[in-house]
This record gives sequence, C-alpha cells and structure tokens, in this order.
Amino acid sequence: MAEVNQAGGCAHPIRLQGVVLDRVNGELVDSGILVPCKDRRAAVCPSCSRLYQADAWQLVAAGIRGGKGVSPDVVDHPQLFVTLTAPSFGPVHSRSRLAGSDRPCRPRRGGGTCAHGLPVSCHRRHAEGDPLLGEPLCAACFDYRGAVLWNAHLPRLWERTSLELYREVARVRHMSTRELRGVARLSYMKVVEFQRRGLVHLHLVIRADGKDGPSVPPPPWIDAAALMDAVTSAVTRAGVAVPVVSGTRLTRASWGVEHDLRVLAPGDDGDSTAIAAYVAKYATKTADGSPWLAHPIRSAAQMERLELRPHILRLVRAAWILGQRKDLGSLRLQAHAHTLGYTGQFSSKSLRFSTTFGVLRGARVLHVKSALAEPGETDGRPDYDGAWRYAGRGYVHAEAYRLADSLFEASSRAPRHLDTTSTTTSTSS
Ligand SMILES: [Zn+2]
Ligand SMILES: [Zn+2]
Ligand SMILES: [Zn+2]
Repeated sequence: MAEVNQAGGCAHPIRLQGVVLDRVNGELVDSGILVPCKDRRAAVCPSCSRLYQADAWQLVAAGIRGGKGVSPDVVDHPQLFVTLTAPSFGPVHSRSRLAGSDRPCRPRRGGGTCAHGLPVSCHRRHAEGDPLLGEPLCAACFDYRGAVLWNAHLPRLWERTSLELYREVARVRHMSTRELRGVARLSYMKVVEFQRRGLVHLHLVIRADGKDGPSVPPPPWIDAAALMDAVTSAVTRAGVAVPVVSGTRLTRASWGVEHDLRVLAPGDDGDSTAIAAYVAKYATKTADGSPWLAHPIRSAAQMERLELRPHILRLVRAAWILGQRKDLGSLRLQAHAHTLGYTGQFSSKSLRFSTTFGVLRGARVLHVKSALAEPGETDGRPDYDGAWRYAGRGYVHAEAYRLADSLFEASSRAPRHLDTTSTTTSTSS
C-alpha cells in the first residue's frame, strides 16, 4: 500500500535511486522512490492517463471559457470547434445512423463485385462493437500505402492549413498575413483521433484573439462567421505534395470532403464542458486503443507478433515496408509504424491558446503540499527534485500491481465528474 501510494496508483511506476535528506534524523541516506510513469495512454497506465485526461480537459476548458491564468474575456472571442477528416482510401464497413436508427453499411444499387471478385456493397446494419467495423470491403482494393503516406503528411498538411487560414482571414480585408498578425492572432488546440479505418482525424478548437493574446479582443470584423468562411476556404485549398510511390495514387495530401464546423456559443458552459471532455478523451488513446501499439516497433519479427485487427496490421506492415525506402527517409516511417505512419503529436496547442500541462502539474504539486497538516509532514512521497537516477521499472512487491489495479477499479466505479476539483483530488486518492 505504501508503494502504491508513493507512485500515485500508477500501473507501471518508475524506480529512482538517490541520496536524500532523512527528515527525522537529518542524515543523508541512499534511498529509492517510486514515481508515476505519467504515460498519457489509457492502454498503458489507466491511472496516469486519467490524470492526463483531466489536465487536457482543464487545458481545453480554460482556452474556451478562461480560468487557470487565461483571461475570462476569451468567452467573447469568436471560437469554432472543427473536425477535419482524411479522404477515402477504399470503402470500409461503417456504422451509419439516421434519426437514431442503424442504416445499411454501404448499399449499392445493382451490387456488383470489385476486380478481386468481392462485393462492393454491404447491406448489413453493423452494431457498435462489430469486429467488421473499419475493415475494408476488399483489402486488395484498399490503398494501404496511400493511407500511411497521408497520415505521415498530416503534420505538414496542418501547418499549411494554418498558414492558409491566416491568409484567408487577411484576404477579406486585402491585408497581408503579416499585417493581420499585427492586429490579430489565431490560437488553437488540436487533438488527433485514429478512426477505425486507421486514418487520422483532427479535432480543433480555434479562437481569434487580438495581437496580444487572450486578454485582447480581435478586430470586430473577425467574427465567428468570418472565421468559419476562412476555415472552409483554408481547408479546401490546403495540400502538400507526397513523393511518388508505386502502388498508390496519392500524390498530394489534402483533407477529405467531410468536415464539421461549429461556432461555440459565447459563455455556453454546456458547450465548453462537452467539447473539453470530447477532446480530452482522444488525448489518451493509442492508434487502435490497444497496448500493442503503445510503443515503437523494433523489428519485423516483433511486428508479426502484434495481436491486431487484420486491417490495422496491414497498415503497420505498409508503414514498415515504406520505411525501408531511402527517398522516404525523412518521414521515419518505421519509427512511426505503431502510429500507422502518423509523425506528429497526439495533442498540441498554439502558445497562447491556454495554460500548459507543466503549469497544471506544478499547481497540483503545490496544492497537495499545502494540504498537508504539519510543515515537514509528507504524504509518503518524498520530494524528488534532487539528483535521482533511473533504477528500473515497476513495483518492488508483486502484490502492489493488483492493489493499484483494484484501487483504480474502485475509483472508476465511484461517481466522478471532470470538474475543477478532480485533478487535485485524484493525486491524493
Ligand atoms: Zn502510470
Ligand atoms: Zn458493412
Ligand atoms: Zn477488390
């Protein structure tokens, strides 16, 4: 129990060894401590990822409605919630719903078959959890190389899109983007979602501020409607060249035709709460939600041992094989085979959108310390700011794993709200 407490309930804590001051007798002693792994992925560490998710929630919520050091004036700035999608790389089984009921997956009048003799239509109504969801109707027709290359180019595509966004906002006033930056800033927080078909989507909150950031409003002509128009044009225009690779038709990475744009109503707490929760949920996922893709793949043999859905495994293999090509070296596709080629961050934000994970963690540490009754009293977790060295991974006593597990299970069953108190209470639980 002492070990689990010290590691904050982490599933795979890190052991550190170092010389510390014994607070009781004032002597320096060689000591070991357990610190939480701080992994953001729920598949790796449920406990640490929950804390990360709560921090991500705070980060997004503060960007939408202020607080945590962000000016509360941001509620009156134009804000959008945007989802950008990937184009199609071949038909996959999907769940289609209309007015609350499931519709057939891919009905095609007259049916027919593809070049490989497989039906091009599917009349099933796939329920949630159907293992077919996200699997291609024909794997031979699906453009795996194109899908991997698209994921790999997403960071550049977003970079281009954000430049286009400035350009589009400026264009309305016949300004240069440089002139625009002199009067306004566009801030955002984005998180990636891996769809079941293995392609990456972006969910973003975009906000317009004055040139000095959140405490200053943008010029009145940059309203939600103007921002909406600019995003639509930027998304349509943006594209990046993709090296020519045999076996795929993809030569330019651009966005899919489906995007979702929503104006956030100023001061609508329901809106900010729901969107913050939505974004925070994706911040803790691996590419397929399983622990198999939590870490980079080191060898072809290791790749073949992964217990993945057939479609996901084909994407991993495609990334691995393309990663052997010299001309694609800069994409580092083998190092990113576990993210299906995607080379960027899972969540990121522009500098002035909100506070940072570091600031939130720092505030939590201070809060926990100040909550201790007596000066010098510890919560079982010594300060680990000193010169510690890595001494391994995991609990010393095997029983601690089961204990950490059951504590997490128990706390998951308790009613829980991702409100302002949850990030502080979960550290001390
Ligand atoms: Zn952990
Ligand atoms: Zn289907
Ligand atoms: Zn086919």
